[in-house]
Amino acid sequence: MDFDVLIIGAGVVGLAVAEQFTRHHYKVLIAEKEPKIGTGVSSRNSEVIHAGIYYPKDSLKSALCLRGKHLLYEYCPQNKVGFNKTGKFIIATSKDELLLLEKIKHNASEAGLNELFLTTQQEIKNLEPDILCHGGLFSPSSGILSAHELMESLKQKVEANNGDFLFLSTVKAIEKNSQSDGYLVEIIDSSGEATEIEVSKIVNCAGLYSDEVAKVLGVFDDSYKIKFSKGNYFKFAKPKYLFRHLIYPVPLPKLHGLGVHVTIDLNGQVKFGPDVESMSGNIEDYSIDENRRESFYIAIKKYLPEISLDELVPDMTGIRPRLASENEFNDFIINEESSKGFPGIVNCIGIESPGLTASLAIGEFVFDKIK
Ligand SMILES: Cc1cc2nc3c(=O)[nH]c(=O)nc-3n(C[C@H](O)[C@H](O)[C@H](O)COP(=O)(O)OP(=O)(O)OC[C@H]3O[C@@H](n4cnc5c(N)ncnc54)[C@H](O)[C@@H]3O)c2cc1C
Repeated sequence: MDFDVLIIGAGVVGLAVAEQFTRHHYKVLIAEKEPKIGTGVSSRNSEVIHAGIYYPKDSLKSALCLRGKHLLYEYCPQNKVGFNKTGKFIIATSKDELLLLEKIKHNASEAGLNELFLTTQQEIKNLEPDILCHGGLFSPSSGILSAHELMESLKQKVEANNGDFLFLSTVKAIEKNSQSDGYLVEIIDSSGEATEIEVSKIVNCAGLYSDEVAKVLGVFDDSYKIKFSKGNYFKFAKPKYLFRHLIYPVPLPKLHGLGVHVTIDLNGQVKFGPDVESMSGNIEDYSIDENRRESFYIAIKKYLPEISLDELVPDMTGIRPRLASENEFNDFIINEESSKGFPGIVNCIGIESPGLTASLAIGEFVFDKIK
Protein backbone atom coordinates (compact mmCIF):
# COMPACT_ATOMS: atom_id res chain seq x y z
CA MET A 1 0.00 0.00 0.00
CA ASP A 2 1.17 3.55 -0.73
CA PHE A 3 -0.98 4.92 2.10
CA ASP A 4 -3.11 3.43 4.87
CA VAL A 5 -5.79 6.11 4.52
CA LEU A 6 -6.83 8.49 1.75
CA ILE A 7 -8.92 11.42 2.96
CA ILE A 8 -10.81 13.38 0.31
CA GLY A 9 -11.27 17.04 1.31
CA ALA A 10 -9.22 19.34 3.55
CA GLY A 11 -12.00 21.21 5.34
CA VAL A 12 -12.31 21.06 9.10
CA VAL A 13 -13.78 17.53 8.99
CA GLY A 14 -11.10 16.03 6.70
CA LEU A 15 -8.38 17.69 8.78
CA ALA A 16 -9.83 16.39 12.06
CA VAL A 17 -10.06 12.86 10.61
CA ALA A 18 -6.48 13.12 9.30
CA GLU A 19 -5.25 14.31 12.70
CA GLN A 20 -6.75 11.23 14.39
CA PHE A 21 -5.20 8.73 11.96
CA THR A 22 -1.76 10.38 11.86
CA ARG A 23 -1.76 10.62 15.67
CA HIS A 24 -2.13 6.83 15.68
CA HIS A 25 0.76 6.44 13.20
CA TYR A 26 -1.29 5.63 10.10
CA LYS A 27 0.22 6.77 6.79
CA VAL A 28 -2.28 9.36 5.52
CA LEU A 29 -2.78 11.26 2.26
CA ILE A 30 -5.25 14.14 2.01
CA ALA A 31 -6.39 15.00 -1.52
CA GLU A 32 -7.91 18.47 -1.86
CA LYS A 33 -9.22 19.97 -5.10
CA GLU A 34 -8.36 23.57 -4.10
CA PRO A 35 -4.85 25.02 -3.67
CA LYS A 36 -5.07 25.16 0.14
CA ILE A 37 -6.98 23.92 3.18
CA GLY A 38 -10.31 25.30 4.38
CA THR A 39 -11.71 27.10 1.36
CA GLY A 40 -15.14 25.40 1.46
CA VAL A 41 -18.00 25.41 3.96
CA SER A 42 -15.51 25.62 6.83
CA SER A 43 -14.51 29.15 5.84
CA ARG A 44 -18.04 30.55 5.49
CA ASN A 45 -19.94 30.02 8.70
CA SER A 46 -20.80 31.65 12.04
CA GLU A 47 -17.83 30.11 13.91
CA VAL A 48 -20.12 29.30 16.83
CA ILE A 49 -19.34 26.48 19.25
CA HIS A 50 -22.83 25.08 19.63
CA ALA A 51 -23.97 23.75 22.98
CA GLY A 52 -26.12 20.94 21.46
CA ILE A 53 -29.55 22.34 22.28
CA TYR A 54 -31.79 21.33 19.40
CA TYR A 55 -30.72 17.90 18.18
CA PRO A 56 -32.86 14.86 18.94
CA LYS A 57 -31.72 12.45 21.62
CA ASP A 58 -29.71 9.55 20.16
CA SER A 59 -28.88 11.43 16.96
CA LEU A 60 -25.29 11.71 15.70
CA LYS A 61 -25.68 15.49 15.61
CA SER A 62 -26.48 15.51 19.32
CA ALA A 63 -23.77 13.06 20.43
CA LEU A 64 -21.03 14.52 18.22
CA CYS A 65 -21.93 18.13 19.04
CA LEU A 66 -21.78 17.48 22.79
CA ARG A 67 -18.52 15.56 22.52
CA GLY A 68 -17.05 17.97 19.94
CA LYS A 69 -17.81 21.00 22.10
CA HIS A 70 -16.03 19.37 25.02
CA LEU A 71 -13.02 18.49 22.84
CA LEU A 72 -12.83 22.02 21.39
CA TYR A 73 -12.80 23.66 24.82
CA GLU A 74 -9.79 21.43 25.63
CA TYR A 75 -8.08 21.73 22.24
CA CYS A 76 -8.32 25.49 21.67
CA PRO A 77 -6.43 26.70 24.77
CA GLN A 78 -3.87 23.88 24.49
CA ASN A 79 -3.12 24.71 20.86
CA LYS A 80 -3.44 28.51 20.88
CA VAL A 81 -6.60 28.49 18.76
CA GLY A 82 -8.64 31.65 19.40
CA PHE A 83 -11.94 31.02 21.19
CA ASN A 84 -14.28 32.66 23.68
CA LYS A 85 -16.88 30.86 25.79
CA THR A 86 -19.27 33.79 25.48
CA GLY A 87 -22.50 32.03 26.43
CA LYS A 88 -25.68 32.55 24.48
CA PHE A 89 -29.20 33.85 25.12
CA ILE A 90 -32.21 32.41 23.34
CA ILE A 91 -34.74 35.19 23.71
CA ALA A 92 -38.54 35.25 23.65
CA THR A 93 -39.71 38.22 21.59
CA SER A 94 -43.36 37.60 22.53
CA LYS A 95 -45.08 36.24 25.64
CA ASP A 96 -46.14 33.11 23.70
CA GLU A 97 -42.51 32.29 23.04
CA LEU A 98 -41.81 32.07 26.78
CA LEU A 99 -43.65 28.73 26.76
CA LEU A 100 -41.47 27.53 23.88
CA LEU A 101 -38.36 28.24 25.96
CA GLU A 102 -39.52 25.73 28.57
CA LYS A 103 -39.98 23.18 25.81
CA ILE A 104 -36.49 23.84 24.39
CA LYS A 105 -34.99 23.44 27.87
CA HIS A 106 -36.83 20.17 28.40
CA ASN A 107 -35.83 18.73 24.99
CA ALA A 108 -32.20 19.73 25.47
CA SER A 109 -32.10 18.05 28.85
CA GLU A 110 -33.59 14.85 27.34
CA ALA A 111 -30.72 14.88 24.82
CA GLY A 112 -28.10 15.26 27.56
CA LEU A 113 -27.63 19.03 27.84
CA ASN A 114 -28.62 20.06 31.33
CA GLU A 115 -26.95 23.44 31.44
CA LEU A 116 -29.71 25.75 30.22
CA PHE A 117 -31.13 28.36 32.59
CA LEU A 118 -34.34 30.37 32.33
CA THR A 119 -33.52 34.06 32.68
CA THR A 120 -35.76 37.05 33.26
CA GLN A 121 -36.19 40.09 31.07
CA GLN A 122 -34.33 42.16 33.69
CA GLU A 123 -31.38 39.76 33.93
CA ILE A 124 -30.93 39.95 30.16
CA LYS A 125 -31.32 43.75 30.21
CA ASN A 126 -28.54 43.98 32.81
CA LEU A 127 -26.14 42.05 30.58
CA GLU A 128 -27.30 43.12 27.13
CA PRO A 129 -28.99 46.52 27.58
CA ASP A 130 -29.88 47.00 23.89
CA ILE A 131 -31.88 43.77 23.60
CA LEU A 132 -35.65 43.88 23.94
CA CYS A 133 -37.30 40.62 25.05
CA HIS A 134 -39.74 39.05 27.49
CA GLY A 135 -37.21 36.62 28.96
CA GLY A 136 -34.87 33.96 27.74
CA LEU A 137 -32.75 30.89 28.18
CA PHE A 138 -29.06 31.16 28.93
CA SER A 139 -26.63 28.60 27.53
CA PRO A 140 -23.27 29.05 29.29
CA SER A 141 -21.40 26.48 27.19
CA SER A 142 -22.01 28.19 23.81
CA GLY A 143 -19.09 30.13 22.40
CA ILE A 144 -17.10 31.22 19.37
CA LEU A 145 -13.78 30.20 17.83
CA SER A 146 -11.51 30.95 14.90
CA ALA A 147 -12.24 28.21 12.35
CA HIS A 148 -9.11 29.13 10.42
CA GLU A 149 -6.83 28.87 13.42
CA LEU A 150 -8.39 25.50 14.24
CA MET A 151 -7.80 24.21 10.69
CA GLU A 152 -4.26 25.61 10.53
CA SER A 153 -3.45 23.96 13.86
CA LEU A 154 -4.83 20.58 12.69
CA LYS A 155 -2.83 20.85 9.45
CA GLN A 156 0.37 21.48 11.40
CA LYS A 157 -0.29 18.42 13.57
CA VAL A 158 -0.96 16.24 10.52
CA GLU A 159 2.27 17.40 8.89
CA ALA A 160 4.25 16.93 12.10
CA ASN A 161 2.97 13.33 12.13
CA ASN A 162 4.10 12.81 8.51
CA GLY A 163 0.70 13.15 6.85
CA ASP A 164 0.87 14.23 3.18
CA PHE A 165 -1.27 16.79 1.37
CA LEU A 166 -1.96 16.76 -2.35
CA PHE A 167 -3.57 20.06 -3.40
CA LEU A 168 -5.32 20.87 -6.70
CA SER A 169 -6.11 17.17 -6.90
CA THR A 170 -9.36 15.26 -7.35
CA VAL A 171 -10.14 11.57 -7.22
CA LYS A 172 -11.34 10.42 -10.63
CA ALA A 173 -11.80 6.68 -10.20
CA ILE A 174 -11.29 3.83 -7.79
CA GLU A 175 -11.05 0.10 -8.25
CA LYS A 176 -10.86 -2.72 -5.73
CA ASN A 177 -7.65 -4.70 -5.78
CA SER A 178 -8.84 -8.22 -4.99
CA GLN A 179 -5.30 -9.47 -4.40
CA SER A 180 -4.39 -6.98 -1.69
CA ASP A 181 -7.84 -5.99 -0.35
CA GLY A 182 -6.85 -2.39 -1.06
CA TYR A 183 -8.21 0.24 -3.44
CA LEU A 184 -6.45 1.51 -6.55
CA VAL A 185 -7.21 5.22 -6.79
CA GLU A 186 -6.70 7.49 -9.77
CA ILE A 187 -6.00 11.10 -8.78
CA ILE A 188 -5.90 13.91 -11.34
CA ASP A 189 -3.92 17.10 -10.74
CA SER A 190 -4.70 20.59 -12.10
CA SER A 191 -2.74 19.98 -15.31
CA GLY A 192 -4.82 16.86 -15.98
CA GLU A 193 -2.01 14.47 -15.12
CA ALA A 194 -3.12 11.20 -13.49
CA THR A 195 -1.38 9.40 -10.63
CA GLU A 196 -2.39 5.97 -9.36
CA ILE A 197 -1.96 5.06 -5.72
CA GLU A 198 -3.05 2.13 -3.62
CA VAL A 199 -4.68 2.68 -0.23
CA SER A 200 -6.46 0.45 2.27
CA LYS A 201 -9.05 2.93 3.56
CA ILE A 202 -10.81 5.98 2.11
CA VAL A 203 -12.73 8.70 3.97
CA ASN A 204 -14.98 11.02 1.97
CA CYS A 205 -15.02 14.45 3.64
CA ALA A 206 -15.84 16.46 0.50
CA GLY A 207 -18.46 18.76 2.01
CA LEU A 208 -20.72 20.21 -0.69
CA TYR A 209 -19.55 17.53 -3.15
CA SER A 210 -19.58 14.54 -0.82
CA ASP A 211 -22.53 13.02 -2.72
CA GLU A 212 -20.63 13.38 -6.02
CA VAL A 213 -17.52 11.83 -4.49
CA ALA A 214 -19.64 8.93 -3.18
CA LYS A 215 -20.64 8.31 -6.82
CA VAL A 216 -16.98 8.23 -7.91
CA LEU A 217 -16.25 5.79 -5.08
CA GLY A 218 -19.13 3.58 -6.28
CA VAL A 219 -20.98 3.78 -2.95
CA PHE A 220 -23.72 6.31 -3.72
CA ASP A 221 -27.13 5.90 -2.19
CA ASP A 222 -30.23 8.04 -2.94
CA SER A 223 -30.29 9.25 0.66
CA TYR A 224 -26.84 10.85 0.10
CA LYS A 225 -28.12 13.43 -2.39
CA ILE A 226 -27.22 16.99 -1.38
CA LYS A 227 -29.17 20.14 -2.13
CA PHE A 228 -27.26 23.39 -1.57
CA SER A 229 -28.91 25.80 0.86
CA LYS A 230 -27.57 29.34 1.11
CA GLY A 231 -27.17 31.25 4.37
CA ASN A 232 -26.87 35.05 4.01
CA TYR A 233 -25.45 37.44 6.59
CA PHE A 234 -25.97 41.19 6.98
CA LYS A 235 -24.11 43.60 9.25
CA PHE A 236 -24.31 47.22 10.34
CA ALA A 237 -22.74 49.68 7.88
CA LYS A 238 -21.06 51.30 10.91
CA PRO A 239 -20.52 49.44 14.20
CA LYS A 240 -23.47 50.25 16.43
CA TYR A 241 -23.84 47.93 19.41
CA LEU A 242 -21.42 46.00 21.52
CA PHE A 243 -22.67 42.54 22.50
CA ARG A 244 -20.98 40.22 24.92
CA HIS A 245 -23.13 37.17 24.20
CA LEU A 246 -24.57 35.39 21.21
CA ILE A 247 -28.25 36.32 20.90
CA TYR A 248 -30.64 33.93 19.17
CA PRO A 249 -34.40 34.19 18.69
CA VAL A 250 -36.56 31.12 19.25
CA PRO A 251 -35.85 28.89 16.20
CA LEU A 252 -38.10 28.72 13.18
CA PRO A 253 -40.03 25.53 12.41
CA LYS A 254 -38.90 22.80 10.01
CA LEU A 255 -35.66 23.33 8.08
CA HIS A 256 -35.85 27.12 8.31
CA GLY A 257 -32.86 27.42 10.58
CA LEU A 258 -32.19 29.01 13.93
CA GLY A 259 -33.64 32.40 12.98
CA VAL A 260 -31.70 35.57 12.19
CA HIS A 261 -29.42 35.80 15.19
CA VAL A 262 -26.61 38.00 16.46
CA THR A 263 -23.16 36.47 16.22
CA ILE A 264 -19.99 38.14 17.32
CA ASP A 265 -16.51 37.21 16.20
CA LEU A 266 -13.35 37.20 18.26
CA ASN A 267 -12.79 40.90 17.42
CA GLY A 268 -16.25 41.80 18.71
CA GLN A 269 -17.62 42.42 15.20
CA VAL A 270 -21.36 41.83 14.96
CA LYS A 271 -23.16 40.08 12.14
CA PHE A 272 -26.75 38.91 11.68
CA GLY A 273 -27.75 35.63 10.09
CA PRO A 274 -27.64 33.21 8.52
CA ASP A 275 -31.09 33.02 6.97
CA VAL A 276 -32.10 30.07 4.78
CA GLU A 277 -32.34 30.59 1.02
CA SER A 278 -33.12 27.58 -1.13
CA MET A 279 -31.01 27.49 -4.29
CA SER A 280 -32.24 26.44 -7.72
CA GLY A 281 -29.26 24.22 -8.47
CA ASN A 282 -26.08 22.99 -6.83
CA ILE A 283 -23.98 25.92 -8.01
CA GLU A 284 -21.51 27.69 -5.72
CA ASP A 285 -22.99 31.16 -5.98
CA TYR A 286 -21.96 33.27 -2.99
CA SER A 287 -23.64 36.51 -4.09
CA ILE A 288 -26.15 38.20 -1.76
CA ASP A 289 -29.51 39.39 -2.95
CA GLU A 290 -29.81 42.93 -1.52
CA ASN A 291 -33.59 42.51 -1.47
CA ARG A 292 -33.23 40.24 1.53
CA ARG A 293 -32.37 43.31 3.63
CA GLU A 294 -36.05 43.90 4.41
CA SER A 295 -36.59 40.41 5.85
CA PHE A 296 -33.46 40.81 8.00
CA TYR A 297 -34.71 44.18 9.20
CA ILE A 298 -38.12 42.74 10.19
CA ALA A 299 -36.51 39.83 12.06
CA ILE A 300 -33.89 41.93 13.88
CA LYS A 301 -36.25 44.78 14.80
CA LYS A 302 -38.17 42.38 17.05
CA TYR A 303 -35.27 42.35 19.51
CA LEU A 304 -33.33 45.49 18.49
CA PRO A 305 -36.14 48.02 18.02
CA GLU A 306 -33.79 50.96 17.45
CA ILE A 307 -32.39 49.77 14.12
CA SER A 308 -33.27 51.29 10.76
CA LEU A 309 -33.40 49.55 7.39
CA ASP A 310 -30.61 51.55 5.75
CA GLU A 311 -28.09 50.68 8.48
CA LEU A 312 -27.96 47.07 7.28
CA VAL A 313 -25.51 46.09 4.55
CA PRO A 314 -24.76 42.66 3.04
CA ASP A 315 -21.87 40.84 4.71
CA MET A 316 -21.17 37.30 3.45
CA THR A 317 -22.84 34.03 2.51
CA GLY A 318 -22.18 30.38 3.14
CA ILE A 319 -23.69 27.27 1.56
CA ARG A 320 -24.95 24.34 3.61
CA PRO A 321 -24.36 20.80 2.29
CA ARG A 322 -27.92 19.92 3.24
CA LEU A 323 -29.38 16.49 2.52
CA ALA A 324 -32.03 16.75 -0.18
CA SER A 325 -34.55 14.73 1.86
CA GLU A 326 -37.43 16.86 3.16
CA ASN A 327 -37.49 15.06 6.50
CA GLU A 328 -38.17 17.26 9.49
CA PHE A 329 -34.74 16.33 10.82
CA ASN A 330 -31.75 15.04 8.87
CA ASP A 331 -28.90 13.57 10.85
CA PHE A 332 -25.25 13.53 9.75
CA ILE A 333 -24.56 10.51 7.55
CA ILE A 334 -21.29 8.84 8.59
CA ASN A 335 -21.39 5.38 7.04
CA GLU A 336 -18.80 2.65 6.70
CA GLU A 337 -19.64 0.94 3.41
CA SER A 338 -18.96 -2.78 4.04
CA SER A 339 -22.63 -3.52 3.39
CA LYS A 340 -22.23 -2.12 -0.15
CA GLY A 341 -19.16 -4.31 -0.64
CA PHE A 342 -16.60 -1.58 0.07
CA PRO A 343 -15.05 -2.24 3.49
CA GLY A 344 -12.85 0.55 4.82
CA ILE A 345 -14.64 3.31 2.89
CA VAL A 346 -16.40 5.89 5.06
CA ASN A 347 -18.73 8.56 3.72
CA CYS A 348 -19.31 11.77 5.71
CA ILE A 349 -22.33 13.36 4.06
CA GLY A 350 -24.70 16.19 5.00
CA ILE A 351 -22.20 17.64 7.47
CA GLU A 352 -23.95 20.96 7.93
CA SER A 353 -24.20 22.74 11.29
CA PRO A 354 -23.01 21.77 13.91
CA GLY A 355 -20.19 20.26 11.81
CA LEU A 356 -17.58 22.76 12.94
CA THR A 357 -18.40 22.18 16.61
CA ALA A 358 -18.51 18.42 16.06
CA SER A 359 -15.37 18.22 13.88
CA LEU A 360 -12.95 16.78 16.46
CA ALA A 361 -15.58 14.28 17.59
CA ILE A 362 -16.24 13.27 13.95
CA GLY A 363 -12.49 12.60 13.67
CA GLU A 364 -12.66 10.23 16.66
CA PHE A 365 -15.88 8.61 15.42
CA VAL A 366 -14.52 7.87 11.93
CA PHE A 367 -11.27 6.55 13.39
CA ASP A 368 -13.18 4.17 15.68
CA LYS A 369 -15.21 2.88 12.73
CA ILE A 370 -12.26 1.78 10.60
CA LYS A 371 -9.11 1.74 12.73
C1 LIG B 1 -23.93 29.54 6.78
C2 LIG B 1 -23.34 28.47 7.65
C3 LIG B 1 -23.17 28.68 9.00
C4 LIG B 1 -22.64 27.68 9.82
N1 LIG B 1 -22.39 27.95 11.12
C5 LIG B 1 -21.85 27.00 11.91
C6 LIG B 1 -21.55 27.28 13.28
O1 LIG B 1 -21.68 28.41 13.73
N2 LIG B 1 -21.09 26.27 14.05
C7 LIG B 1 -20.92 25.00 13.57
O2 LIG B 1 -20.55 24.12 14.35
N3 LIG B 1 -21.13 24.72 12.27
C8 LIG B 1 -21.58 25.69 11.43
N4 LIG B 1 -21.79 25.43 10.11
C9 LIG B 1 -21.45 24.10 9.59
C10 LIG B 1 -19.95 23.92 9.36
O3 LIG B 1 -19.40 25.07 8.74
C11 LIG B 1 -19.75 22.69 8.47
O4 LIG B 1 -20.43 21.60 9.04
C12 LIG B 1 -18.28 22.30 8.33
O5 LIG B 1 -17.49 23.41 8.02
C13 LIG B 1 -18.15 21.25 7.24
O6 LIG B 1 -16.79 20.97 7.06
P1 LIG B 1 -16.33 19.96 5.93
O7 LIG B 1 -14.90 19.73 6.13
O8 LIG B 1 -17.26 18.79 5.91
O9 LIG B 1 -16.63 20.72 4.56
P2 LIG B 1 -15.71 21.75 3.76
O10 LIG B 1 -15.12 22.76 4.62
O11 LIG B 1 -16.52 22.24 2.60
O12 LIG B 1 -14.53 20.85 3.22
C14 LIG B 1 -14.69 19.97 2.14
C15 LIG B 1 -13.46 20.06 1.30
O13 LIG B 1 -13.53 19.07 0.28
C16 LIG B 1 -12.97 19.59 -0.90
N5 LIG B 1 -13.47 18.80 -2.02
C17 LIG B 1 -14.74 18.76 -2.51
N6 LIG B 1 -14.81 17.90 -3.53
C18 LIG B 1 -13.56 17.35 -3.68
C19 LIG B 1 -13.01 16.40 -4.56
N7 LIG B 1 -13.74 15.80 -5.50
N8 LIG B 1 -11.70 16.06 -4.42
C20 LIG B 1 -10.92 16.69 -3.48
N9 LIG B 1 -11.41 17.61 -2.61
C21 LIG B 1 -12.71 17.93 -2.72
C22 LIG B 1 -13.45 21.03 -0.90
O14 LIG B 1 -12.67 21.84 -1.75
C23 LIG B 1 -13.34 21.39 0.56
O15 LIG B 1 -12.09 21.96 0.86
C24 LIG B 1 -22.29 26.42 9.26
C25 LIG B 1 -22.46 26.21 7.89
C26 LIG B 1 -22.95 27.22 7.09
C27 LIG B 1 -23.09 27.00 5.62
